[in-house]
Amino acid sequence: MRKDVRRPGVWERAVLLLFPARCLWCGRAVGPGDFRCMGCGPVPAAPKPRLFQLEKGGRFLEVRAPALYQGGYRRTMHRYKFMGEKGLSGQLGRFTAGAAGPWADLDGVAYVPLSKRGRRARGYDQGRLLAKSVARALGLPLLGVLEKSRENQCQHGLGRAARMENVKGAYRAGPGAEGKALLLVDDIVTTGATLCQCAKALYDAGARQVYGLCAASAEKKEG
Ligand SMILES: [Zn+2]
Repeated sequence: MRKDVRRPGVWERAVLLLFPARCLWCGRAVGPGDFRCMGCGPVPAAPKPRLFQLEKGGRFLEVRAPALYQGGYRRTMHRYKFMGEKGLSGQLGRFTAGAAGPWADLDGVAYVPLSKRGRRARGYDQGRLLAKSVARALGLPLLGVLEKSRENQCQHGLGRAARMENVKGAYRAGPGAEGKALLLVDDIVTTGATLCQCAKALYDAGARQVYGLCAASAEKKEG
């Protein structure tokens, strides 16, 4: 892993001047490098890492996130995901990257691909933008190694068993994953079904190690 600290380029500095850092909980302006304002108080401790079993008796996928999907942070994520506030990707990515601390010797950042239909509906790929920002913060290459092998139904409103069934075999990974230790980035982890299918596809393509990293963790009752 490259260790050099990256300086923001001219364009990024201009954007930061126009859109100074904002509190990820309430939207108030904050100092550079801050994620929460004085009014909201210190950033809450990150939730415990979650472990998902990829197959019976087989590997586990460890998934980390810097915050729970609730309160003001949930509203911020919602604005990013559904209301076109692409500008949040930089700060969300830097915040998310902070949760990857314990993992070393990473070779790159992969992300959950959005279907063509999803991209058309939103006009941008919020998962890829987030992953790009995480990769930049960690000084790692962004690798578009995953792709959808078929369209599946939207996961929203489905329980874990139904989600597992819905995304089974929906992803495949290219040869770019071979021999690599990868961070698999997605915006929100709920039941872990999508992340598990993507991690399996990466291992099937020869990845050495896969870790899951999300901007938020939503604890959802199993259903
Ligand atoms: Zn605040």
